[in-house]
Amino acid sequence: MDLQGRVAIVTGGSRGIGKGCALALAEAGADIAIAYRKNEAAASKTAAEVKALGRRFLAYQADVTNDEQVRAMVAKTVETFGRIDILVNNAGGPSTGRRLINTEAGEMQHQINTHIMGPFYFTKAVLPTMRQQRKGNVIFISSVETKLFPAGHIPYAVGKSGVEAMAKCLSLEERDYGIRVNVVGPGVIDTDMSLRVARALKGSSNIMDLLEKWPFGRPGKPSDIANLIKFLVSDKASYITGQVIFVDGGGIQMWDLPEG
Ligand code: NDP
Repeated sequence: MDLQGRVAIVTGGSRGIGKGCALALAEAGADIAIAYRKNEAAASKTAAEVKALGRRFLAYQADVTNDEQVRAMVAKTVETFGRIDILVNNAGGPSTGRRLINTEAGEMQHQINTHIMGPFYFTKAVLPTMRQQRKGNVIFISSVETKLFPAGHIPYAVGKSGVEAMAKCLSLEERDYGIRVNVVGPGVIDTDMSLRVARALKGSSNIMDLLEKWPFGRPGKPSDIANLIKFLVSDKASYITGQVIFVDGGGIQMWDLPEG
């Protein structure tokens, strides 16, 4: 996959799946801008790793739920690199695992803000540049929860379902401008987020305790997600748009997913 000369924004690119994407896209030749919320140390570490691959790098502290910060980051990316070819809407986090009856309105709002409004703000901000270029790729990260719809996971599953709806409509809206839009839905991936879920729902610091049975005997890795994204944003996938592709080892069992 050759992404030489391309510029990618990865939201939540400081850690986990987003970091995996930043590194994979950089390996393929793209310059990278990441948005992170607060963990500056993690962003600096990612910066060093991307730069070691010989790519240009911009780390920007922008909360995806803040439209103003998002627009400022996109403007800074254009100012720094002159273009934007790829947007990976990845930033996000888990919900509490409580059933609706015990879910605070604030938690529901937080999940919608992070998983729907964040990608909305970022996508809206990059589209004018991509349209001008007559070429672009937008990737949304959803979740296996849009296949499972497990009890106790309504705020998160609603957020991720919203993202899939947004992506499908958007793929038709932007096709004539040469912009492709796809969704990647991870299963359980070995990241800080899964560790938080394991601690909260299973009282364990071992991700392996999250499920009874693991596909292929292991959690997914950030690179499992990043490798697909690298393909989807490349010219080798130039006839693929509006798709939701799950990277979940073929599916986890519904009754495996814990409630809080
Ligand atoms: P991590 O917790 O490992 O990393 C989250 C990243 O998102 C960090 O870079 C964090 O920044 C950033 N972030 C979180 N909220 C915001 C915000 N409001 N504004 C800007 N940046 C933010 O998560 P994962 O890598 O595990 O998850 C990445 C995506 O994948 C999420 O959308 C998640 O829902 C999805 N996903 C994850 C699965 C998994 O098993 N891990 C399964 C299915 C989907 P900072 O470092 O500053 O905190």
